[in-house]
Amino acid sequence: MKPRLTVELAKRVKNLPPYLFATIDRLKNETISKGVDLIDMSVGDPDIPTPEHIVEAMKIAVEKPEHHRYPSYAGMLSFREAVSEWYKHMFNVSLDAESEILSLIGSKEGIGHIPLAFIEPGTTALVPSPGYPVYPIGVLFAGGENYVMPLEEKNNFLPVFKSIPENVLENARMMFLNYPNNPTSAVAPRHFFEEAIGLAKAHNIIVCHDAAYSEIFYDDERPLSFLQVDGARDVGIEFHSLSKTYNMTGWRIGFAVGNSEVIAGLGQIKTNLDSGVFQAIQEASIVALQTDDRLLSDIRARYQERRDVLYEGLNSVGMQVSKPKATFYLWAEVPQGFDSSGFVVHLLEQAGVLTTPGNGFGSPGEGYVRFAVTVPEARIEEAVERIRKAL
Ligand SMILES: *Cc1c(COP(=O)(O)O)cnc(C)c1O
Repeated sequence: MKPRLTVELAKRVKNLPPYLFATIDRLKNETISKGVDLIDMSVGDPDIPTPEHIVEAMKIAVEKPEHHRYPSYAGMLSFREAVSEWYKHMFNVSLDAESEILSLIGSKEGIGHIPLAFIEPGTTALVPSPGYPVYPIGVLFAGGENYVMPLEEKNNFLPVFKSIPENVLENARMMFLNYPNNPTSAVAPRHFFEEAIGLAKAHNIIVCHDAAYSEIFYDDERPLSFLQVDGARDVGIEFHSLSKTYNMTGWRIGFAVGNSEVIAGLGQIKTNLDSGVFQAIQEASIVALQTDDRLLSDIRARYQERRDVLYEGLNSVGMQVSKPKATFYLWAEVPQGFDSSGFVVHLLEQAGVLTTPGNGFGSPGEGYVRFAVTVPEARIEEAVERIRKAL
């Protein structure tokens, strides 16, 4: 007999909670295999295809032999210049393409890697909860500790900085923030960002603001970029992604912008781990970033109609939900008698509607479920009718 290898996972992997969306994927496949006509509102992955002109630009770019070689680590200068122009146009913020902008293989990649640059074992990161699971996982992989900042409805889903103990702040190296927020759909007012910058300066904390949803907003009320606030560039960076903005989740491209030393630190990690973004994707992304504003307002208008149908529908079946000002999510309280997971299973089994349990984004999300309006309006109407019968 050949001796068999004993495959022993590292503790950092063994101790991982199951990745939320992988669990949901399994539930989803089980339901579909039973022949259920599933309405999947669980994952924030736009159903609208990438705009035609971006796909056409990719077709041309992919044929160029110069793109078939390794890309530059930080991103093509022309891509970073397009990001700089986009920032100026969207937020009236000026950025130096060479030192203040870095391409990412999707913003998830940068968010997951950045703690490796700044977190040491024994130091802490402040992470919002409920929140994008990649923030605390990246910190754990770097050997750091997470301090959870709960996002509660009574505080408009903003962390309350004055409740963070002094000894935690002293040990904190980084803070993650995310507005417009996934999963609560909250937006942050300017004074909140000012407060965050004050805290960061007082305690030497790097702020990482995740702005993946900056372009999905309603009623013409554009959310702030963190970098529009005075002093932001002294303390941190902002993550963006083409995924949600241009319906390009499959393409894997995003970027980080802001404080040049923080950008350089993240860049150093990436240089040692990956080799940048396929240049053809960067070239098509330049075309995306230069897209006429009308395209984005058309996308927003579509989400806004869907948001209104779901908001009114959920209200009409007696669910408590507030009307989002941004993102394609609705964060709804589960009805009396259910917890988050119980309600998700109930909706799946009784209505064939899949949502995400709020507690999957962290325990402060218990008591909520998240709906993503990434399905056509007619399906949302159908979902509401099925939920009405299931309640
Ligand atoms: C979708 C999402 C991202 C990641 O997007 P990428 O596709 O990796 O660019 C980052 N943050 C939040 C909050 C998201 O919802």
